[in-house]
Amino acid sequence: MNRLVKELDKIECEYVSRFPMSRYTSMRVGGIVDLIVYPKNQSELIMVFNILRCLELDWTVLGGGSNTIIDDGGIKGVLVSTRKMRDIQILENGKVLAEAGAVLGTILNNSLRAGLSGFEFAAGIPGTVGGGIAMNAGANDGEIKDVVERVWIWLDGKEIVLSRDEINFEYRKNDLPKGSVVTRALFFLTHGNRKESEKRVKDYLDKRSKTQPITTSNSGSIFKNPAEIPAGKLLEELGFKGFTIGGARFSELHANFIVNSGSAKASDVIRLIQMAGEEAFLRKGLLLETEVKIIGKEKS
Ligand SMILES: Cc1cc2nc3c(=O)[nH]c(=O)nc-3n(C[C@H](O)[C@H](O)[C@H](O)COP(=O)(O)OP(=O)(O)OC[C@H]3O[C@@H](n4cnc5c(N)ncnc54)[C@H](O)[C@@H]3O)c2cc1C
Repeated sequence: MNRLVKELDKIECEYVSRFPMSRYTSMRVGGIVDLIVYPKNQSELIMVFNILRCLELDWTVLGGGSNTIIDDGGIKGVLVSTRKMRDIQILENGKVLAEAGAVLGTILNNSLRAGLSGFEFAAGIPGTVGGGIAMNAGANDGEIKDVVERVWIWLDGKEIVLSRDEINFEYRKNDLPKGSVVTRALFFLTHGNRKESEKRVKDYLDKRSKTQPITTSNSGSIFKNPAEIPAGKLLEELGFKGFTIGGARFSELHANFIVNSGSAKASDVIRLIQMAGEEAFLRKGLLLETEVKIIGKEKS
């Protein structure tokens, strides 16, 4: 780790030691990460990953942390955060080039201001370009895959560019190579009617505020929807609405959301997820797959 810190100093890249991940993730749980590194742009991100590769250090990458639960034991090793890489360029012909850490909501606002339409589906998804592509984030009948044209990734010491078709996006997953990191992406939008787009965004946000617990810390949908039934409906049928462990509970508003009342530990959240998965299998014969990513080390 000392050698890494020396190299980061040389390229003047920002980092913080022993950072509490409860301050990073939207669920507000998680232990300490040994070192969090904040590249400020795409070229610095590539330098950081090349250094990590040369030093043979394990790493994790995160964007907004809005789809991730970090264990109470934290993360042993290095976390690279794209949060400072927020550049968004509106190009000609409705194209938008955005760095991995650009926030989806900011891309939406900037594109609306430029009279572009197509990104409205992302209203209220609090993630970044990297996390959005990794998850093929979607809502309101739209997904990232519908608007992405090209994705640049760092892989094994090189930056390469992939077309949308090479990524094989599916419901909340894709075929990005293992060990790759999204560095930036090109989106294609169309020229539209700004007023109509803004109205659609407002309707989406209004619907969200009525149906999701957006004022309490959470990580969005916990489980993917099985083919048979929406996960929220299933959890409601199983009696999980309001079910609580420690400071975490399944939301009364939407049973596929777990909310942190303020004192939750990651272990409370993870236990709720395990219990719901077990009950879904035992009582309905359904295998629930988590949409949220759970990472880190269990506290011993
Ligand atoms: C209130 C709320 C509402 C939500 N609503 C929705 C919704 O409607 N639809 C939806 O799809 N999601 C929703 N989410 C979940 C979440 O916002 C999305 O999945 C979002 O795309 C995650 O982005 P992020 O940057 O926060 O990802 P993170 O949580 O930081 O990371 C998620 C995953 O992506 C990986 N990743 C992050 N950056 C990169 C990168 N640069 N390269 C490679 N991998 C990377 C991480 O390693 C991790 O595995 C919601 C979350 C909340 C809290």
